[in-house]
Amino acid sequence: MLILGIETSCDETGVALYHTERGLLAHALFSQVAIHADYGGVVPELASRDHVRKLLPLIEQILAEAGLARADIEGIAYTAGPGLVGALMVGGAVAHALGFSMSIPVLGVHHMEGHLLAPMLEQNPPAFPFVALLVSGGHTQLVQVSGIGEYILLGESVDDAAGEAFDKTAKMLGLDYPGGPRVAALAEKGQAGRYRFPRPMTDRPGLDFSFSGLKTFTLNTVNAARAAGDLGDQTRADIALAFESAVVDTLAIKCKRALQLTGCKRLVIAGGVSANTRLRAGLETMTAKLGASVFYARPEFCTDNGAMIAYAGAQRLRAGQQDGDRIAAVPRWPLDTLPPLNQRCDD
Ligand code: ATP
Ligand code: MG
Ligand code: FE
Repeated sequence: MLILGIETSCDETGVALYHTERGLLAHALFSQVAIHADYGGVVPELASRDHVRKLLPLIEQILAEAGLARADIEGIAYTAGPGLVGALMVGGAVAHALGFSMSIPVLGVHHMEGHLLAPMLEQNPPAFPFVALLVSGGHTQLVQVSGIGEYILLGESVDDAAGEAFDKTAKMLGLDYPGGPRVAALAEKGQAGRYRFPRPMTDRPGLDFSFSGLKTFTLNTVNAARAAGDLGDQTRADIALAFESAVVDTLAIKCKRALQLTGCKRLVIAGGVSANTRLRAGLETMTAKLGASVFYARPEFCTDNGAMIAYAGAQRLRAGQQDGDRIAAVPRWPLDTLPPLNQRCDD
């Protein structure tokens, strides 16, 4: 079954063609980062308009790349939420219009289920059950996953998401958005041990996270260095490294707890921050000690993309799930309310 996937939840227009037997056939992404750069954040109306501008040309582009025609598409999956409602509506409207005109099934997909299943597109996909760490710009969650749509929320951030903390730290250090990769690159030149940042909420039991205190700690450190006339390149790199190490340690401590609590031997990391090299290395070390393993997607499928939506949608469309006549656009949508697929496969 050939599925067209459409992602328009925020500031990235993503499309992909995924075939349930032949795998991923083509994908493309257009980032609106330059459009929003002058405003210091994503402007919802500009985002919606640009999705309108880019979506159909991108779909034509991947069809051409795959040597396929529109008529070959057998199902359409689009991101129905969570996200910016206007941006979501663009993807949903295109999906439903195409689907209606071609009499093929259409399904609204949960953006975080897309992220969570993205590692399934890789060579060595994780088997169920596993623990998933979702670390993106808007979410930091630990989820127990026993099958598609079988999600138990184990813990989440009580304030900022990890990606958001990276983006704000980048701003404090004079780096552009998206901050994650830039902070990581700067941290490469940092000297370990000059600063020690807190590991929030690791000294008490539980699987929740908090990153807003860490952000304040970073701000205070930056301000103190500036006041001392010592905010040169080396200091900024040392701060970036101290911040990144604190985030990685904190996430690793909570992931270890979650694996021990559930008895799971597989950890999946997904979302933009899962592209972070130091996080991957930290989790490799932690899981190896537990006799467990860690799975993640290639970097371009950690951040927003159409492939993850095509894949997640393909699983559900193949099982017969589909939308009615209405476009779904759900700004807030808890992951654990999704219906199961009953693809259970216990250890
Ligand atoms: P959500 O998925 O929660 O709705 P989002 O779609 O904006 O939010 P993603 O696209 O999954 O989030 O990820 C973007 C985030 O990932 C940004 O905060 C970015 O800074 C962060 N990020 C990307 N690459 C890295 C990296 N190498 N290291 C750390 N953070 C990174
Ligand atoms: Mg984004
Ligand atoms: Fe995302």
